[in-house]
Amino acid sequence: MTRRQKAGRILTRMIQPGQTIGIIGGGQLGQMMALDAKQTGMKVIVLDPTPACPAGQVADDQIVAPYAEVQAIEELAQRSDVLTYEFENVDLRALEDVADKVYVPQGTNLLNITKNRIREKTFLRNAGLQTAPFMAVQNADDLKKAVDQLSYPSVLKTSEGGYDGHGQVVLHSDADLVNCAGILSTQDAILEGWVPFRLECSVMVARNENGEVTVFPVSENIHHDEILHLSIVPARLPHNLQKQAQQMAVKIAHAIDLRGVLGVEMFVTAAGQIYINELAPRPHNSGHYSIEACNFSQFAIHNRAICNWPLPKIELLQSAVMVNVLGQHVAGVRQQIARRPNWHFHDYGKAAVRHNRKMGHVTILTDDIDATLSEIDNTGIWRE
Ligand code: AMP
Repeated sequence: MTRRQKAGRILTRMIQPGQTIGIIGGGQLGQMMALDAKQTGMKVIVLDPTPACPAGQVADDQIVAPYAEVQAIEELAQRSDVLTYEFENVDLRALEDVADKVYVPQGTNLLNITKNRIREKTFLRNAGLQTAPFMAVQNADDLKKAVDQLSYPSVLKTSEGGYDGHGQVVLHSDADLVNCAGILSTQDAILEGWVPFRLECSVMVARNENGEVTVFPVSENIHHDEILHLSIVPARLPHNLQKQAQQMAVKIAHAIDLRGVLGVEMFVTAAGQIYINELAPRPHNSGHYSIEACNFSQFAIHNRAICNWPLPKIELLQSAVMVNVLGQHVAGVRQQIARRPNWHFHDYGKAAVRHNRKMGHVTILTDDIDATLSEIDNTGIWRE
């Protein structure tokens, strides 16, 4: 049996309260997974190099070590009954190595596909879904050919390791080619044709080992500087497009043999065409609204799915707006605590406050999305 087969091997079991979930990565996603897991009586151990990281603050224990340190992953595996992760840049070899010691329901295939934009888009196209046109680019010659083919505007991205707009250059004309040297030096890039979207949205979908699938409402996502600023749920899209977006997410979940939660980011054009932009093999920032607005949060559903609990039908209990709190917003948002009895304030407990660092979020349940958007805007906190 190859390492990959071993990691993908099906070991059906239901994880019970009192057993231990091991999480690779201790940021806010791990923290919210851990908070939910504690509610159901699970034990949680987190692996993260930063002492008292967000998830470490709420878990039973933290192994303080680099994510890729083999010994640390082995210790985590030994002390856990099920292993999961909160980000995609997990060391695949290390995960494969421990797959015979601990239950790794998500396997490594999903990570292997989603950590590389070229593999991801190829998978999506083979599954019958629409993506931006793209070409692999390894050097300046490839880039010229790709630009000839896909024309301007287009966007050059690193195939691996980019996030929140890092590792991307938008090309409007030949004059922008000089900005590509950094990305080209990786020798593993992708040029994507520009999708003239009217709206960006995302859908969280989950599947367990029994093949049960559940899907969340569509959230409309507004970015500032390529970082998610605000999500509106349900997305302001016609009902048939919302249904289509959910059906696409379910199709992907089956095609990829999903376990756990997957975030599916999409572009919707004015003509009502839906393109899949990106997959996140884990809970996603745009799904945070579900903590208050749905019958089950994306974190509860992720834990249920990896623990092989049955999956409920997701209901949106109330419309919601979620707004991210970055380093530059923290002081302003803290001042709102005394004034906004209806806002749900989340603070991840990060020690260092930095510009553009995700420090927390606010969710507001509402029957009037426009009024809530004005309420947020009128604070002035998110204007700069
Ligand atoms: P990504 O990291 O791929 O999600 O890209 C970050 C943001 O850049 C997206 O949320 C879009 O706003 C924009 N973007 C990325 N790729 C494209 C594309 N091919 N067409 C249009 N907009 C894009």
